[in-house]
Amino acid sequence: MSAHEPAVICREVIKTYGKGEIAVRALKGVSLEARFGELLMIVGPSGCGKTTLLSVICGTLRADSGTIELFGKNISSMPDRELTAFRARHVGFIFQQFNLVPTLTARENVSIPRLLAGASYSAAQKDAGAMLAQVGLAGREESFPSQMSGGQQQRVAISRAMVHQPRLVICDEPTASLDAAAGQRALDLLRESARHPDRCVIVVTHDSRIFHYADRIVEMDDGLVTASQTASDYLRDHPHPPTQPKSHV
Ligand code: ADP
Ligand code: MG
Repeated sequence: MSAHEPAVICREVIKTYGKGEIAVRALKGVSLEARFGELLMIVGPSGCGKTTLLSVICGTLRADSGTIELFGKNISSMPDRELTAFRARHVGFIFQQFNLVPTLTARENVSIPRLLAGASYSAAQKDAGAMLAQVGLAGREESFPSQMSGGQQQRVAISRAMVHQPRLVICDEPTASLDAAAGQRALDLLRESARHPDRCVIVVTHDSRIFHYADRIVEMDDGLVTASQTASDYLRDHPHPPTQPKSHV
């Protein structure tokens, strides 16, 4: 696996929520590729299927049809147990609401993926401390999430997603609940991570202020991919993006 090879391939992915009259077809046949060494941004209005697509890519949600390959492995046909272990090892997920464990310190939260990977308690705590230092949180290791700002909590969440050096890092709406400076800091960290030739970062957003961090931008609308361009081509074709993101639904 190396830079510019596909890390993620989705082919004709379909996902429907519910059945019968209340069924919502969230993904209507999505195909896309994300490569190693790349920060891919998936953009589009609220409700177009971005979060559903991320969930299907990391396998927390099963698609109805179509295939998803991560690093050359078809996860669509992987049994649940194998997929759970595969995801724990190779995927880091930064949730929109951060999903930190409130009763654990920053260091303990970040140590979880290392513990799941079989590291000793002391090794996991040490790795977590080093990771927190990298994101600028040295000295805050023993703080609880409730004692930190939104931006700091997000950096803990980013640390937890990256401490086990996963090949794929996925981030849903990184700036939705943050001020501009905290949002930029998060994107700087994700951007830096995507420079690793054996890593791929996928960021979902509808915040046009951060589009320039991407290598490539995939546009979605109403459950479909409608365009895929380099970020520079996208920004050239959309020269006056709105400065304020729509509020998240
Ligand atoms: P986005 O992240 O782009 O805002 P989502 O993937 O969350 O979009 O949602 C896509 C569509 O699927 C929307 O119409 C949404 O209302 C619907 N949807 C999302 N999650 C569920 C769910 N758990 N049950 C039923 N419908 C859902
Ligand atoms: Mg969403």
